[in-house]
Amino acid sequence: MASESKIRVRFAPSPTGQLHVGNARTALFNWLFARQKGGVNVLRIEDTDLERSEARYETQLIDDLKWLGLDWDEGPDVGGSYAPYRQSDRLEIYRSTADRLVQAQKAYYCFCTLEDLERDRQQALAENRQPIYSGKCRNLDPAEVQRRRHAGEAAAIRLKIPEHPIKFHDIVHGDVQFASESVSDPIIMRSNGVPVYNYVVVVDDAEMKITHVIRGDDHLSNTPKQVALYEALGLPVPEFAHLSTILGPDRERLSKRHGATSIANFRDMGVLPEALVNYLALLGWAPSGGARETFTPKELIKEFSLKRITPSPAIFDMEKLHWLNRHYIKQSPPERIHAIAQPFFTKAGLLPENPDAEIAQWFGRVVDLLAPYVDKLEQLPQRAAILFHFDPAAALANPENAEVLAGEKTGPVLQAFAAKIGNQFPVAPERFKEIMNELKTETGAKGKDLFHPVRIMLIGSHSGPEFDKLIPLLEEGSRLNLPEHVKSVRERVAGFMAARGQRS
Ligand code: GLU
Repeated sequence: MASESKIRVRFAPSPTGQLHVGNARTALFNWLFARQKGGVNVLRIEDTDLERSEARYETQLIDDLKWLGLDWDEGPDVGGSYAPYRQSDRLEIYRSTADRLVQAQKAYYCFCTLEDLERDRQQALAENRQPIYSGKCRNLDPAEVQRRRHAGEAAAIRLKIPEHPIKFHDIVHGDVQFASESVSDPIIMRSNGVPVYNYVVVVDDAEMKITHVIRGDDHLSNTPKQVALYEALGLPVPEFAHLSTILGPDRERLSKRHGATSIANFRDMGVLPEALVNYLALLGWAPSGGARETFTPKELIKEFSLKRITPSPAIFDMEKLHWLNRHYIKQSPPERIHAIAQPFFTKAGLLPENPDAEIAQWFGRVVDLLAPYVDKLEQLPQRAAILFHFDPAAALANPENAEVLAGEKTGPVLQAFAAKIGNQFPVAPERFKEIMNELKTETGAKGKDLFHPVRIMLIGSHSGPEFDKLIPLLEEGSRLNLPEHVKSVRERVAGFMAARGQRS
């Protein structure tokens, strides 16, 4: 008895493309619910759309789910008591179940051709009727059916929708009722022998003893047909929870137009999986009592509740995702961030493919210095331009810099700094501090007037990381054999003064 009441949920993606945020959220909510209730999480691959389904998408889907940290107890890759978990491997079950439904007179053969159906549709529209299937083949004489079947005429199988209204309860949307007139007798098996989604999903959910169907609300309008199928099969209807649509900031359905939408996109940008999971959890769900926004997966499992899912659409807020990503970047062990960041630098031509220990150590410190300031790790090479890219002419031409450099004390500060650095290499951070103190006394400049010009000279901007971390990185970097030479303090000062001389 205990095992019968066990909660069983499933995530049932169609391998027709990349895993996008909407489906990933569905996968996450199923997982959270299963793990919270000590239930079973099933992964089922819905690949009955043979033309659009591809094995490579299934592989990617599985990789993406794993990357997010989700797992499942039954599925095509792990097996389970209700295997197979790929619908294309279950066709026999769908065929024999459809035969059973026909025999029990819950379903019937339909010989209408596409042209017949289109003609009926047009006529219904012209007569201001709902363009649903007329039920023409519902009451064909059994002898005629047999004759036409024997003669090899193509026939689909349709479910008889009951006369009474179809009702079900949705945990998110409450009681839902559809008048049976608005639901036409749906095809469950096409005339080419391929079963239809609304049918296979019910056969599988029933067979796999799914207790809660948690999925996107684009399936809400399919649910009455599915409920009718449970009735026809004489099987208990599971609980439903339909998750709201995800919209872009313009309140249009989230799509590629809004930028990244697939899990792979976010991974490729250097968004951490825990940030994405945390963000997805908050899309349409909020913890009780809640202003809190950061949750580890463990905390989510504890707090999650289907009852707190909101029926209204969720708006995808990239800023909030970035905020969470920054939070998790700072929380993460540095070595992990180094490893994720490295390919971005290699791709940008700033690091060798296989950096030696010395370069790796230096690179780690570069990342430690810059990572707290990025929204996503792909921004790091650009941030690292202060190290790799030294362009005094551009620094001088920048209007914001020009304002700083026009300061009355700037000239003397720059000149004195250049004189004190001279040919020194490497400049120790302590020596740098001394120099700045000397400059303060000698030129009378202090604070911004002192530090900003020097920073512009060294990195092309008046804001940036602290000098005592930056200076050693410049000096050590300049000694390393990197694809892009990192200029030392001395080289920078000389380059900047030369460019400044040329301008005046
Ligand atoms: N395969 C369907 C989809 O990807 C999901 C079906 C369901 O969850 O019932 O939209």
